[in-house]
Amino acid sequence: MAAEVSPLKISAAALAELLATPLDAAPKRRHAWAGWKCEACGTDTTPERRAGPAGRNSMCNRCGLKYAKAKKRHRLELKQRDEQRIRAIMSFDALIHQPMSEESTDSIDAWR
Ligand SMILES: [Zn+2]
Repeated sequence: MAAEVSPLKISAAALAELLATPLDAAPKRRHAWAGWKCEACGTDTTPERRAGPAGRNSMCNRCGLKYAKAKKRHRLELKQRDEQRIRAIMSFDALIHQPMSEESTDSIDAWR
């Protein structure tokens, strides 16, 4: 609440500028970082710097988001592969501890 600023004190030019600006229009924030370049695309203009393989603030907003997404997916794939390996080891363990019979030999062949 800007009670101390009376709308009557706004100049005609400022008022026209206000009226010409849509209320939902977000101001475009584009920040140029002195002596900085995105390590992926080489831009020096980004609203926000993001973490990349080289560390914090080494990537621009777009590349950093893409990198974070790829990293997350990669981690998920590694986790899934680990779970599959653990499951395979556990089922193999169960197989070799079974008493040998015609049936268990068949199931070993099936497992392979
Ligand atoms: Zn970039």
